[in-house]
Amino acid sequence: MRRPGNGTVPPPGSCAIRGLGDGLDGLGDGDTAAGEGDGEGAALLGAAVVEAAAEPEGVGVGPAPVQPVARANPPAVVPAMSARLVSGAIETACHGSGPRLLRSPTAAGTLRAMLTLDDLRALPKVALHDHLDGGLRPQTVIDHCAANGHTLPTTDPDALRRWFFDAADSGSLVRYLETFAHTVAAMQTAEQLERVAHEFVVDQAEDGVVYAEARWAPAQHLAMGLTLDRAVEAVRDGLASGMRAAAEAGHTIVAQQIVTSLRQDDPTVEIAQLAIDHRDDSVCGFDIAGAEDGFPPSRFEDAFRLLKHDNMFFTIHAGEAFGPPSIWEAVQLCGANRLGHGVRIVEDLGIDGDPVEFGRLAAYVRDARIPLEVAPSSNLQTGIAAEMKDHPIDLLLRLGFNVTVNCDNRLMSDTTMSREYLKLVEAFGWGIDDVRATTVGAMRAAFLPHDQREAIIADIVEPAYAAARSA
Ligand SMILES: [Zn+2]
Repeated sequence: MRRPGNGTVPPPGSCAIRGLGDGLDGLGDGDTAAGEGDGEGAALLGAAVVEAAAEPEGVGVGPAPVQPVARANPPAVVPAMSARLVSGAIETACHGSGPRLLRSPTAAGTLRAMLTLDDLRALPKVALHDHLDGGLRPQTVIDHCAANGHTLPTTDPDALRRWFFDAADSGSLVRYLETFAHTVAAMQTAEQLERVAHEFVVDQAEDGVVYAEARWAPAQHLAMGLTLDRAVEAVRDGLASGMRAAAEAGHTIVAQQIVTSLRQDDPTVEIAQLAIDHRDDSVCGFDIAGAEDGFPPSRFEDAFRLLKHDNMFFTIHAGEAFGPPSIWEAVQLCGANRLGHGVRIVEDLGIDGDPVEFGRLAAYVRDARIPLEVAPSSNLQTGIAAEMKDHPIDLLLRLGFNVTVNCDNRLMSDTTMSREYLKLVEAFGWGIDDVRATTVGAMRAAFLPHDQREAIIADIVEPAYAAARSA
């Protein structure tokens, strides 16, 4: 159960203790993540069969037990690339019985043939991790950059689409960052932000997305005179008009915005306060993004303290470009409600053994049902694996982690939610129950009031999957 704010801001320096408490609070809250997580966990189990018949019911996905937390587990003593965070914890971290992998019934051949892109487009999906400046239409980039006097590599829409993907896929950080220089340059007036937000919603809805959170860093969009407040209002208006246009086209979608601070910037509470100021006006959360290595989440602990004081949701990019120490800070020091990517939690697993061995941090993240906003194609571009078949997402799902599927940057990865799922179908044999489980899990992890999440699941998601299953 969440505690109401007591009207006082905790004193500086108390974050570590408070963060732990809040982390455990987050467990109840993780009712977002956990109580519902039980439901979510049940959904996962409902969608999967336990491989070993002797497996105790609920292992790995049942009611999340509160594990002894590695309280004295400072990142300073943790090797960045350690396979396990807490040596000696392995034997006890799995509740006395090693977690077995869960297998999709579709993968086991009990349902119909492989899902197609059209199948996936027709199924409701949820996009929690999608950058507004990473999903523009090429023509919009061209139009806005021409108006702003910004030069692009090409002004042919198809060639520009290919350029964005090639640059992001090049393995060069310089080229990758250059892509965002162009998209941010195309989003500098209220009208431009509104159009981009409008198209964000329309494009997601046409792909079958029924709930989406668009994240972006308002401070990057002030070069032509916008204020932070006006910029947020412009995105709000674009999201609203996008929802109206989607409805007119026969699609139901709810879209909100997450405002982001860039972790390589000087830490400030200004953007966190901006999120709070607009929280009932389309802003549903806060995030930090940008360079992870060398810029730990704790740099923004004042912002997170302010957000927690105001009972505001936030997610943190962690476990994408840096490993378990970054995840540990995000979860235990800062109290993140969700993890942006979080895929390098796999480095706290002993995956060579049978059963897979859990470090304390990996066990905590799984058992607290902390949602992982995994973006498969984007993760390949930033180096988690060379090929999709080696991406840890399937392993994490089978081990009972609260896995959600996301695009991250649709333009840079040349993808959509349906295409991301298709890649998982092709690489791992994901079936309709895997798509449903991760969709329901994502919906329950949304920064949306509980009753509204459940209404979307009951009224839109479940009927569509039931109909597809019986088709
Ligand atoms: Zn991201």
